[in-house]
Amino acid sequence: MGDDTRAQRKTENGRSMTANKKLLILPGDGIGPEVMDQVVRVVDWYGKERAVKFDLDEGRVGGAAIEAEGTPLSDATFAKAEAADAVLFGAVGGPKWDTNSFDMKPERGLLRLRKDLGLFANLRPAICFDALAESSSLKTELVAGLDIMIVRELTGGVYFGEPRGIEDLSDGTRRAVDTQVYTTPEIERIARVAFDLARKRGNLVHSAEKSNVMHTGVLWREVVQKVHDEEFPDVELHHILADNCSMQLVRNPKQFDVIVTDNLFGDILSDVGAMLTGSLGNLPSASLGAFDEATGKRHALYEPVHGSAPDIAGQGIANPIASLLSFAMALRYSFDLGEDADLLETAIGNVLASGMRTADIMPANNPKVAKVSTGGMGDTILRELGKLAG
Ligand code: NAD
Repeated sequence: MGDDTRAQRKTENGRSMTANKKLLILPGDGIGPEVMDQVVRVVDWYGKERAVKFDLDEGRVGGAAIEAEGTPLSDATFAKAEAADAVLFGAVGGPKWDTNSFDMKPERGLLRLRKDLGLFANLRPAICFDALAESSSLKTELVAGLDIMIVRELTGGVYFGEPRGIEDLSDGTRRAVDTQVYTTPEIERIARVAFDLARKRGNLVHSAEKSNVMHTGVLWREVVQKVHDEEFPDVELHHILADNCSMQLVRNPKQFDVIVTDNLFGDILSDVGAMLTGSLGNLPSASLGAFDEATGKRHALYEPVHGSAPDIAGQGIANPIASLLSFAMALRYSFDLGEDADLLETAIGNVLASGMRTADIMPANNPKVAKVSTGGMGDTILRELGKLAG
């Protein structure tokens, strides 16, 4: 497909897509730069073989930025992120900066990006590749073919609500307060993200809250139902209590398609979802902002769920799949290039099925499986992409 055709493409919302897309790469610390090297190779492949042209830029974040620029995220790098169509983020952190003051911790760079770009919707897919179903702690038949999406509200709720803090009381004891707070617009916009996604997948949404014991849960349920009835009546909607949702995720995860929930419950449920699939090294995520009606653009940051893995950094053994799948999410959600995203996901599935594994997903005593390095995994995925596209 040529650039012109791509340039004329429209998103589902009828917004025009231009040919060249601005991608900002923020590799960060530890294994971040190692896995992002493989992402850059794949981005280049798309440019050459699929005529999907990206303007690539790179910046520092986290510990790397503290060392070179004296801050976890400089204003100049933030400006680049603001101007980009999508940010591809590696990972931040490491023992070197563990004792830094709060504002000089590497994680502050990521938190600033999420907050200042208004990334309110966190998408965490839990997809289990058939070839890795055996590495889940659940029975193979429960997870083989699993494909669910957890949509977590990321910028509100109890992690941000006021008042918050710990106070000393006159009787010598202390009192800690966190406040769970949600407004109608906050719930409406995350519900829309979930329903919209469901339409492109299995057309089913479970909305998880605690409306039996929390006022925010009552409002959450009412607002999600209203958005559904007024805007997405074709999507199947179920309300589920968050504790039951966690139980059902472990009992029968394939009953779910899209789960939408608040910041706190999403934090927990997405980790449960993550572990259904076996390995941290395979899990991508996306954080999306609101559509700007004037430009038709939305801020978006894509990152692996894993951290900087200082225990294996510099050894060339990190698994790049989570970062590559994050790029696939960028193709799908920022650039409306679903077929190109499918291609990369299929290539990764095929490579795993052929028995290639990085160290973290090596099964014990299986002679049919071969261990590869970070770069070796990148090589095989690129070869598979070539075969599939050829
Ligand atoms: P981690 O995800 O970095 O590592 C946990 C374990 O999983 C380690 O044994 C690691 O070797 C392994 N692992 C993780 N990703 C892997 C991959 N791609 N390939 C192979 N093995 C992989 O979590 P942690 O050890 O708790 O944290 C390490 C540092 O990362 C800390 O400084 C933490 O604050 C930071 N962190 C950053 C992010 C982020 O940038 N978004 C997220 C979580 C943790």
